[in-house]
Amino acid sequence: MAGEKFTSDVVIGLEIHAEMATQSKLFCGCSTHGTDEPNTRTCEVCLGMPGSKPVLNRKAVDFALKLCLALNCRIAPQLVFSRKSYFYPDMAKNYQISQYEIPLGKKGSLKLKSGKEVGITRVHIEEDPAALVHPSGMERSTYVLVDYNRSGDPLCEIVTDPELESPSEARDFMKQLITVLNYLSIFDINRCIIKADCNVSIKESGYVRAEIKNVTGFKEIERALKYEVERQKKEVHEGNSLKQETRAWDPDLGITRPMRTKEVEEEYGYILDPDLTVIDITDEMVSAVEQDMPELAESKIEKYVKEYNLKKEDAEILSQEKLLADLFEKVAEEIDPVLAAKWLRRELVRVLNYSKKKLAEIELDERHLIDLLKLVEEKKITETTGQNLIEKLLQEPFDVKEYVENQGLAAVSDKGELEKFCKEAVEENPKAVEDLKQGNENSLNFLVGQVMRKTKGKAVPKEVNEILRKLVG
Ligand code: ZN
Ligand code: MN
Repeated sequence: MAGEKFTSDVVIGLEIHAEMATQSKLFCGCSTHGTDEPNTRTCEVCLGMPGSKPVLNRKAVDFALKLCLALNCRIAPQLVFSRKSYFYPDMAKNYQISQYEIPLGKKGSLKLKSGKEVGITRVHIEEDPAALVHPSGMERSTYVLVDYNRSGDPLCEIVTDPELESPSEARDFMKQLITVLNYLSIFDINRCIIKADCNVSIKESGYVRAEIKNVTGFKEIERALKYEVERQKKEVHEGNSLKQETRAWDPDLGITRPMRTKEVEEEYGYILDPDLTVIDITDEMVSAVEQDMPELAESKIEKYVKEYNLKKEDAEILSQEKLLADLFEKVAEEIDPVLAAKWLRRELVRVLNYSKKKLAEIELDERHLIDLLKLVEEKKITETTGQNLIEKLLQEPFDVKEYVENQGLAAVSDKGELEKFCKEAVEENPKAVEDLKQGNENSLNFLVGQVMRKTKGKAVPKEVNEILRKLVG
C-alpha cells in the first residue's frame, strides 16, 4: 500500500499465524500433539518425501471457516491451495502448501476494546514448516537440528489492514483475536502457538516499513513494536534514512536486529498445487459451520450490560474467556447477576490468579458455587466467610451447605449476641474508645476488627460498625 495514504504517526499491520487445535495434521494423519521426542510424529507426507501425496484434513477447513465467519470475512467460492517455493531446511519439499491467489476469507473486521474496527485483509490456511533447533542458541551453534514433529501442523494466517496506530492497539488486537479463537474452540492456548510478523513504519520516515518476524505472545508484540518505533524515530532524528527490511526480535535483549532486506511475495514463485483438487465451498458447507458457531464475546458483553445491568468493565472481564462466561450465565440464573458478577470477577479471578491456575484446570462444580453465593446473597454467611470458602472450593469440591453447618460458619445475625461482643470490645479497649470520641475514625476500624476477631469473621462489619457507634455515642 502506498505510504502517502497514511496520516497517523505510527502505522502497524500484523500477519498472524495461529496453530489450529485439530487432532491430526493438515495433509496427513500424523498427530499434532502428544510425545515431544523429536521426529516421531512424522510420515512420508510431512517429511516431504518424493511421491507422497497430501490429503486435506476436513476439520482444519471447518475450523478456518469458523474463524472467517467470526471475523466477518467474505468466504471464497472455492478452496484453492498453492505452493510457495523457497529453499530452507525447515521445508524438505522446498515449498510450503499455502493459499495465495484466493484466500479462504477476505475483507473482514475485528473490533478492539475501544470500539475501533480493524480491517482484516485476508484469512488463509497453510501448513507449518518444521522446527529448527539450535543446540547452543541461535548465535553460537555450529550446526542446526531439524524436528519435523511440527511440520504440516495446520495454521490459520490472519493478515490485518495497516490500521493499527500504536503498539498498545496491536496488543489489544491480539487479545481480542485470542478471545475469538478461544470461543470458537479452534485454538488451545495451552499447546497451540500463536506468532505475529509485525509491519511497522512511522510518519517521519515517509512510512518506510520494517517487518519484525515471529514475535510470540501479545505482551511481546507490544514490547517489540515499542522498541522498533523508538529505533526508527532515533534513526530519522540522527539523519539516517531507513530501508525496507526484515528484522528479528530478540526477547532476551529486548531489541530488533536486521535479518535481510525484504523479498516480495512474487519472488516465492507461487503455483497452484496440482496434488490438491480445487474444492467448491458450498452454501451447505458454510451454513453447517454457521450452525455450530457459539455466541461470541462481543455480543455477550452487550447482553450482560443490557439484560443483567452489569458495568461494561465487569462484562468485558467475564466474557474474555468462554468458560468463565458460561459459568457466569449458569450462576446468574439463580443468583442476582450483579452479585454473581462481583463474586466471579473479583473473588474467583483473584483466587485463580493467586494460585496461578486456569479455570479449565480446576474441578469446579457450579452447583457448589451457586450454593455458596446463595448463602452470601441471603446474608447467611458473611463476605469474609464467603471469600474463605471460595478459596477452599477451588482446591477441592465439597458440599458447601453441609460444611457451613458442620463448622458453625453461619453469620452472627442475632442482634443481642452481636451487641454482647461489641460491649466486650468497648470495655477491653478504653484507649480506642477515647480516641474515637476525639474523632479518630481509625480507632473505630480497630474496634470493628476486635469484634470480627471475637466472632471469627462471622459478623457483618457494617452492622458491627453501627452498634459500636451507638455504644460509644
Ligand atoms: Zn505426517
Ligand atoms: Mn504464512
